[in-house]
Amino acid sequence: MNEKLSAFNGVNNIYKISFDGKKAEEYVEQNLNVLLIRDKHAFLLPEKNSFELTDDEYDYLLNLGDEACLEVNETGRIANVFGKRYDNTLYITDKCNSNCIMCPMAEVTRRDGHNVPFEILKELVRYMPPDMEHLTITGGEPFIIREKIFDILNDLKACNKVWGYLLLSNGRVFSNKEYCLRFASSVPEDFLVGIPIHGPNSEIHDSISRSPGSFEQTITGIHNLLATHKVSVEIRIVVNKINASRLSDIAKLITEQFPRVNSVKIMGMEMLGNAFINAETVWIPYEDAFIYIKPAIDYLVHNSVDVQLYNFPLCFIDKSYWNLCANSITDYKIRYLDECNNCQEKNYCGGIFTGTDKFLKGSVKPIFL
Ligand code: SF4
Repeated sequence: MNEKLSAFNGVNNIYKISFDGKKAEEYVEQNLNVLLIRDKHAFLLPEKNSFELTDDEYDYLLNLGDEACLEVNETGRIANVFGKRYDNTLYITDKCNSNCIMCPMAEVTRRDGHNVPFEILKELVRYMPPDMEHLTITGGEPFIIREKIFDILNDLKACNKVWGYLLLSNGRVFSNKEYCLRFASSVPEDFLVGIPIHGPNSEIHDSISRSPGSFEQTITGIHNLLATHKVSVEIRIVVNKINASRLSDIAKLITEQFPRVNSVKIMGMEMLGNAFINAETVWIPYEDAFIYIKPAIDYLVHNSVDVQLYNFPLCFIDKSYWNLCANSITDYKIRYLDECNNCQEKNYCGGIFTGTDKFLKGSVKPIFL
């Protein structure tokens, strides 16, 4: 989230947005902080500070709509935002019990990073607007906060504010059957869990997660989750130099062991953090990666598995596979290179991750139809 309210003069807080004075009063009665907007003028309630909005800031808030909420720090930087639009993210923690060699966060952050305070997570859920189209719950590994995640899920379920969920996890925790059943009993309806499989066997998977035993835990965890019949599972494969030549074997493992998965996402790397530090070991040019991706997709599609390509620009993908390319990179992380200005497909291309752009310099090929 890169937005800022330049003249903001309040304190670090969560605010409910309102364009209606009466509704704003009701929010205050419910003990909610309010950002009341009138004619490009913002009033903070109940403290009654006020400040001017620029045209862009006003349009941004208008676009979020009545009932959305924001977490704003003292400098006016917006740390969290939840609206009825699709792209809402509840970030739980920097920490993770794995330390993947191509993780876009650095090892030190994964190890020593911070958990979002539990009280803040609870408040964010309380402030969220009703009828949110979608919410992604992510980290780090969200289950690092242990039982507290059940509390958050139970709140979301009780408030009934979201239509569809995606939770991203390395899946290891679900190898504990009892924990998996507790999780299944806490989740709201329409709940999808995204779990990565890095290799067709423990040797490759564990060398990427750098966590011995993680392959066995993840595979058992996916089996346990599917057996609950309460959630859907999406398998994620992050393509890198270590696993690229084994993509078809991973596809085979998925169809043999998990024929009921919701979908498979084949993903390009975000070359930051560990991925950048270990670039020599993990980076594979996209045109080389696609040589291995293609037969894996064909195999999955032939076996009736829904597949999508995430984070790959169109010019590295055969045209007959463009329909599988999703615009998956979050807006503020998207980069285009100078060459892209000549590309006829720029409006349809999902672009390049910030950080990965350095690795693709000189290799993007503007498309002329
Ligand atoms: S040239 Fe740029 S805009 Fe065109 S497909 Fe490649 S990355 Fe996308």
